[in-house]
Amino acid sequence: MCKKNRNFAAKKKKNTMSKILLISTGGTITMVRDAVSGALVPADMETFKAFMPELSAGDFQVEIQAFTPLIDSSDIGPAIWEQMARTVYDHYDEYDGFVILHGTDTMSYSASALSFMLENLGKPVVFTGSQLPVGVLRSDAKENLLTAIEIAAAKDEEGNAIVPEVTIYFEDRLFRANRTTKRNAEHFSAFNSYNYPALAKAGVHITYLPHLVRYSDPTKPLTLHTAFDTNVAVLKLFPGIQPAVVRALLRTRGLKGVVLETFGAGNAPSDKWLYRELKAAVDRGIIIVNKTQCNTGSVEMGLYAVSLNLMKAGVLSGHDITTEALLTKMMLLLGEQPENAKELLCKDLCGEMTID
Ligand code: ASP
Repeated sequence: MCKKNRNFAAKKKKNTMSKILLISTGGTITMVRDAVSGALVPADMETFKAFMPELSAGDFQVEIQAFTPLIDSSDIGPAIWEQMARTVYDHYDEYDGFVILHGTDTMSYSASALSFMLENLGKPVVFTGSQLPVGVLRSDAKENLLTAIEIAAAKDEEGNAIVPEVTIYFEDRLFRANRTTKRNAEHFSAFNSYNYPALAKAGVHITYLPHLVRYSDPTKPLTLHTAFDTNVAVLKLFPGIQPAVVRALLRTRGLKGVVLETFGAGNAPSDKWLYRELKAAVDRGIIIVNKTQCNTGSVEMGLYAVSLNLMKAGVLSGHDITTEALLTKMMLLLGEQPENAKELLCKDLCGEMTID
């Protein structure tokens, strides 16, 4: 099942009254070249709007809230995730949809975090950014932003949002946020969703694939979750990894959760010391989740003998989840409901993993 929305005239008529809140956190998309130094600097909102006259062209009613100061996304973490999610939550009834401007470097982390923070979301929250600043001639900013707004405003014949999820729109694809990874530091097509298809594709038409979209129960109210526990770590295995390295990480004071990045279908060296360290960590109450280092495909513990030790040690399967989604989900569950974190990490909460 596909739905095509012809842009321009038809869309204009249908979405004339759609009201969108544009939340600008910063990133390359908000930058211009400083005339004196030649360096890229964040533009103030008036300068940004001057580069984007389409924002006030009247197709949609776009209101803007900009963070001060604007932030490079490498400096974004749980406190700013809360600021973003709270802005959506506080203004939820006033707008039809939300677009969040964000640097590309950590966009997949922030967007994944918001997908877990905004439970029972019934309106679109579309993240976008650009590889080239808005003030540069060949910039991808305009196309990304205008299409993101159009998607955030898109409604079906009954007036319901077509994609009421947290998503990332970039280049020509709309992805479920918690399935994305930044894959390219150079190309305009910066993101991919390796284990779940795009929710919409933009060309001359925007083609929506509603059968892939997750719709929350409309009778349940939007609920905001903001308590993150950052006592987590990512342990990436590699051939030749030394016991002292693993030991130092797993014995970090206060550690509560670990994303264990393994080989292939969830495999690890069969050294006895590794098993002992993992088992001892699990016995100390640390939650360890197995995530494959491969972009595509899933963890399948037990398929090879070299993953049996992980199962015996009590390591959980992350199936086909991304590191960005697993890490943010783990931090939020450890902060919000630590007693259920283990059980909920094994469940698909909002489309972030496929459990066969
Ligand atoms: N460093 C920038 C950021 O993530 C890069 C970008 O926006 O593409 O904020």
